Amino acid sequence: MSFRFSKIGQRISAGSGIEQLMDDLGHALAAGGSQMRMLGGGNPAAIPEVTALWRAEMQRLLTHEPDRFDRMLVNYDPCRGNPEFLEELVGFFNRQYGWGITTENVVVTSGGQTAFFYLFNLLAGEHADGRRKKILLPLVPEYVGYANQGFDPDTFCAMRPKIQQLDETTFKYHVDFDALNVDGNTSAICVSRPTNPTGNVLTDEEIGHLRQLADDQQIPLIVDNAYGPPFPNVVFGDATPPWGDNVVLTYSLSKLGLPGTRTGIVIGSPQLTNAISSINAIAGLANSNLGQVLVTPMLRDDRMVSVCRDMIRPFYREKSMAALSMLKEFMREGSYRVHASEGALFLWLHFPGLPITTAQLYERLKSRGVLIIPGENFFFGLGQEIDHQTECIRLTFSMSHETVREGIKILANEISSLSSV
Ligand code: PLP
Repeated sequence: MSFRFSKIGQRISAGSGIEQLMDDLGHALAAGGSQMRMLGGGNPAAIPEVTALWRAEMQRLLTHEPDRFDRMLVNYDPCRGNPEFLEELVGFFNRQYGWGITTENVVVTSGGQTAFFYLFNLLAGEHADGRRKKILLPLVPEYVGYANQGFDPDTFCAMRPKIQQLDETTFKYHVDFDALNVDGNTSAICVSRPTNPTGNVLTDEEIGHLRQLADDQQIPLIVDNAYGPPFPNVVFGDATPPWGDNVVLTYSLSKLGLPGTRTGIVIGSPQLTNAISSINAIAGLANSNLGQVLVTPMLRDDRMVSVCRDMIRPFYREKSMAALSMLKEFMREGSYRVHASEGALFLWLHFPGLPITTAQLYERLKSRGVLIIPGENFFFGLGQEIDHQTECIRLTFSMSHETVREGIKILANEISSLSSV
């Protein structure tokens, strides 16, 4: 028997780039993961010192605060989030940045991914005045996980990047402000910073400019801090999160090494956080509280700052530098270019003149035991096609040194076998 799905049902069950990615990752892990070099997925690394912190906190709860442990398992949290966590989170941000936010400015979701599902569908699509409004991505490539989240098929409009060549092999994407058009049909501007897939960190000036454009239209500027400051702070230079009436910031505990706890955080105006809290109730009653309970003490005493600064950021910085030098070692000079690695867990590689699509390259590499993500997936919402769309791949460097090295070696071999590259 085959049931008929609604239009929305069809749309959200028809498959997506993010599903392929999560499926590949899940199957490879289920199969032991030993054969496949998983340079595709976004699993954070299990950093031993950080994993030890979560274990120690769990032990401490069990041994010294058994009542709190029981309450964590036995009770539903309020739909905005765990009250103690919200208090400590607000105190933490106010001490770090002096914003003066209250718990009314914060709401927890079941992971950052879910936060975006709620935000995009709150803001994009048909409005009361009959207008169909869109989320503007001022710079693609952008996070593949957004691509199929809108109930409205036309949820996004996107802009191609301005490309700055930094040296012979390194480039950096910038927002092309001359081409950017923010008008009454735009319901929000959204960027990830650092950007998944490129590791780009939009400059504070670019963020300031976007904020001004959003302000002028009285729409939100959404900044996805899945890798951003103050946690997990996988940023290799300097970046400050913006704050103000029209700013919406999303955070996640995933890249602290807690993706299994499914904890996302939205910081924004009370109107928006109240709306998300209401959706939480409808969609899931409450969120998982495990991650919130585990990190609360390190927000209270600001240890979160030193954990990110001294354990998490240097770990990924070193991984990034190692992956860059492996590229130099194995790839023929001139056969590739790479985006400046300014943060996050990925390298974004460009193979100028690649004679096959990166979707085909993905299949070839998969059959040789290497998973990467083809670039095509990251250019949604863009009217026209650009060469980077079919000539770029994302490569994750969070796996072990040996795995990344083997993967890059096979990639280099595959690229050099494609004659015209
Ligand atoms: N945003 C970005 C840019 C991401 O890379 C991810 C996951 O990798 C997410 C959001 C969602 O992460 P989570 O749902 O685990 O918080």
